[in-house]
Amino acid sequence: MTDPIDPSTWFGSRVEPGQYTSLDMPASESYSGADITIPVHIWRAPKPGPTVCITAAVHGDEINGTGAIRRIIREHPFKLAKGTLVLVPVVNILAFERHSRYLPDRRDLNRSFPGSHTGSLASRIAASFFEQITKRCDYGIDLHTAAVRRTNFPNVRADMSNPKLAEFARAFGAEFIVDSKGPKGALRSSAVKAGCLTIIMEAGEVWKVQPGVVEYAVRGISNCLKHLKMIQGSPAKPPYRVETDRTKWVRATHGGFLEFHVAPGTIVEEGEPLATNADLTGEDRNVIRAPQAGVVIGMTTMPSVAPGDPVCHLAFTKSGALTKIERTIDQLEDDSLHERVREDLSTSVHLIEYDQPNS
Ligand SMILES: [Zn+2]
Repeated sequence: MTDPIDPSTWFGSRVEPGQYTSLDMPASESYSGADITIPVHIWRAPKPGPTVCITAAVHGDEINGTGAIRRIIREHPFKLAKGTLVLVPVVNILAFERHSRYLPDRRDLNRSFPGSHTGSLASRIAASFFEQITKRCDYGIDLHTAAVRRTNFPNVRADMSNPKLAEFARAFGAEFIVDSKGPKGALRSSAVKAGCLTIIMEAGEVWKVQPGVVEYAVRGISNCLKHLKMIQGSPAKPPYRVETDRTKWVRATHGGFLEFHVAPGTIVEEGEPLATNADLTGEDRNVIRAPQAGVVIGMTTMPSVAPGDPVCHLAFTKSGALTKIERTIDQLEDDSLHERVREDLSTSVHLIEYDQPNS
């Protein structure tokens, strides 16, 4: 029997220390009976070390991470000194083919892990991936974006009650860490249960490869590999860090058309206007405000809303901490990655300064 974490053979092909190669992982069969495979790039360092899996497009339309992983495959931008990198640009290949979040059977692959070989299509693909890849990895970074018609400021999500996982999550160097175990059936929560310490990054939008997000993801991945001593150097620290398990979607109370007053990454005071909601001729205005001080880590990009539609996803922390963060941001250079990502993501919403009505 082979050691389950022996990194020398992948899907029947040998990969020697110091080599990299692209292989196809058998996943399923199509409606026409053709084999469906998932392209995987295996990169082995000359020396032994941890096996780390970087995945994207578990939701088939979330391809920002695909852009980041393709960049690593194309450029090999760092020298891998130890261990093995398993790079999977698109996990959910059938959903990706349809530009969709979901599989053709309308199931969510990211609620189907660890899967079963006798279950649904989603469950079988999940099992296939989980056994051939996840179970053979020590660590995982799964790259996501916001769902359709929304955008996220980059944030890492991880179960911070696990000290080793918390360290790995912090090493990524994101300003925001949301402490959560993740939903049942997600790749992340199932991987952690199986001993593969996995975090996710949520950043940007579906159907796009956004330059700032790609750079942010590649930097985060390099930071994590530095933390594991797989590449040289120490992880870059973020300008500030918020770790929280308190987030909330602020929703529209009326149907209407939004003028946004905040963008992803904006820090807001309690009661600060997030968006003004009005009918199409600008009458019947109502202002959507922050219920308490927080940071916009996600928001809709869709100006037209119905009652109950999500407008802003706020992350909460101590308000004293926010004042300090604002001062830190004020001192950042315009060409810092933080500011470029903010600038990049703000182009998806029409920002209009809040017009204080005369009282
Ligand atoms: Zn996702």
